[in-house]
Amino acid sequence: MQLQFLGTGAGMPSKERNTSALALKLLEERGTIWLFDCGEATQHQILYTTIRPRKIEKIFITHLHGDHIFGLPGFLSSRSFLGGEDTLTIYGPKGLKEWITASLQVSKTHLKYTIEYVEVQEGVVFEDDDFIVESRLLEHVIPCYGYRIQQKALQGELLIDKALELGVPKGPLLGKLKNGEDITLENGQKVFSKDVTASPKEGFILAVLGDTKYCETAKILSENADIVIHEATFDHKTEHLAASYGHSTNIEAAKIAKEANAKNLILNHISARFLTHDLEVLLNEAREVFFDSFIANDFSQFEWKNNKLIAVEDTNY
Ligand SMILES: [Zn+2]
Ligand SMILES: [Zn+2]
Repeated sequence: MQLQFLGTGAGMPSKERNTSALALKLLEERGTIWLFDCGEATQHQILYTTIRPRKIEKIFITHLHGDHIFGLPGFLSSRSFLGGEDTLTIYGPKGLKEWITASLQVSKTHLKYTIEYVEVQEGVVFEDDDFIVESRLLEHVIPCYGYRIQQKALQGELLIDKALELGVPKGPLLGKLKNGEDITLENGQKVFSKDVTASPKEGFILAVLGDTKYCETAKILSENADIVIHEATFDHKTEHLAASYGHSTNIEAAKIAKEANAKNLILNHISARFLTHDLEVLLNEAREVFFDSFIANDFSQFEWKNNKLIAVEDTNY
């Protein structure tokens, strides 16, 4: 799994940061990409990456502020031009479907694929054999949902040598054992799946929080998460503004990660008031509270590998 930030700014685009969008690349896990929020010009940002719009299978919208949705009509249209034919599912608060439909209708945009809309409420918004996504209402100036994405435990690998040793012939019986089935060999000997497979591997837990002030729900969504992505629109000097604008400081974000017993924190949604040289200060302040903190810039990429979060330095994405 990889994460790539396409926009990490707050409110308005600046030269340094575009508005919110984050790609969760699940290319190995399911051959697709999920997008979280789609601020204006997200499709322009995508042009600088290897992301193919038709690979985007789902878009999760946290809330209806422009800096999180104004990129949708353009992106949806380009996805069609670029050969996207698979159904796209869009999850978001009430009103999103009406806004998208009106934008597409007024501009006479006809898509070559179907959009499925899921109006998000608190609870499970998506579940299949591999993933479960849950949403909860955060505390912002309009309804804003945070998402908790959990990858289900992965089937343990088949220990081929062990199976062969027990006399299992090469072929479909190995597949059955791999899928958890016990088998009986021709000579009547039973072989148990658990004896020839490694123990299941835990999947990852990712919390993608939208705009929010410091709140209990952010903590619940982040509980024991491997990675928490939390906004940091303000810092301690502007703390008095944070709560009244429905936002958080870098330190509050770090407190959430710490109190939720999370493993890693990535700060995003950074105000344009902070210049490049302020970022190190923002990050260090967060690290004093929660050591495993990172700060995301546009195009920052992270990889989740062997239960570790690695910031990918290579800019060739
Ligand atoms: Zn915002
Ligand atoms: Zn907002």
